[in-house]
Amino acid sequence: MAYNRAPASRDPPSGIGNSTVISMKQSMQPITTAAANAFDYRVTPYLKSLLQDRPADDPLSLQFLPQPQELTALAYETSDPIGDTPFTPVPGVVHRHPDRILLKVAHSCPVYCRFCFRRDMIGSKGEPLQGAALDAAIAYVRAHPEIWEVILTGGDPFSLSARRLRGILGDLTAIEHVSVLRIHTRVPIVAPHTVDETYVSALEQPLPIYLAVHVNHADEITDAVVAALRRLHAAGIVLLSQTVLLKGVNDNVPVLEALFRRLVRLKVRPYYLHHPDLAPGTSHFRVPIDVGQRLMHSLRRTMSGLCLPTYVLDIPGGFGKVPIGPMYVGARDASGCRQIQDPAGHRHTYPE
Ligand SMILES: *Cc1c(COP(=O)(O)O)cnc(C)c1O
Repeated sequence: MAYNRAPASRDPPSGIGNSTVISMKQSMQPITTAAANAFDYRVTPYLKSLLQDRPADDPLSLQFLPQPQELTALAYETSDPIGDTPFTPVPGVVHRHPDRILLKVAHSCPVYCRFCFRRDMIGSKGEPLQGAALDAAIAYVRAHPEIWEVILTGGDPFSLSARRLRGILGDLTAIEHVSVLRIHTRVPIVAPHTVDETYVSALEQPLPIYLAVHVNHADEITDAVVAALRRLHAAGIVLLSQTVLLKGVNDNVPVLEALFRRLVRLKVRPYYLHHPDLAPGTSHFRVPIDVGQRLMHSLRRTMSGLCLPTYVLDIPGGFGKVPIGPMYVGARDASGCRQIQDPAGHRHTYPE
């Protein structure tokens, strides 16, 4: 496939260096171009080379290349599937749970995943958080002593320059009641070379930093990614992963098993397996919840607990994330006993 270079959309992410944003729009079929116009389309040069020669139904292509199905939104799909808006006290902050907030420091990403749950809020549809708005968000954290943890999340926080990121982390560190910082990013996976020593030095803070990389398939973990993860690890960052369960990408046991084992060997602890959110035009990525439960059930039978993330659903409307199984424990019966299923599927009576 021929890739054409096009100018970066509105706000080239400074944190990913001056890497050119690649567009394939001109070479796409009209219907696919329409999908790329409806929802921002962008890949990094690194990702472009990774996608080269992969078929359209490849687990990586599916995640990043626009599909005609994106133009079909279901009635129950919404622009704000996990309900950020009702819990936004000041722009850029989502305060749903008492002890922790999301801080959306960036409005864009170096790539746009086709299943993104914030696809209607970021990129050309988003607003950068800077100047007075950023000050107000930091002031909100300062004014709320119950905030124990600040989670920098998407748009991708690593799309900020090292200088800006260091500044924000420094401002948060200076707030006495903030004890833990967390960063959710896909940059180590999609632009690993940009997570260089200089960039990683921006993360040198007295507070513990937990960094959750978004990764969905072992093929995303190249030598360059391994090197980026090593640099982060060497800087004392605790590494976690988040994976979205996606039809055609990772909705089977061998693929998930390979991914989670690989991550643990790289000192990345699988944290969440997300059931995909009800974002517009993403129904082709969703599998039924019982499929996800069966996958998790199988994985628990065969795989070290270290490799097992929690399978979660973010309840539409802003009601939070909950583990969605599988369930191993039955209700208490008249004699006060419960039936507990073991990993092999056999039931056992547990007296209480
Ligand atoms: C996902 C999310 C968090 C983080 O939840 P954890 O279970 O702590 O990982 C915090 N706040 C909001 C609003 C979220 O959507």
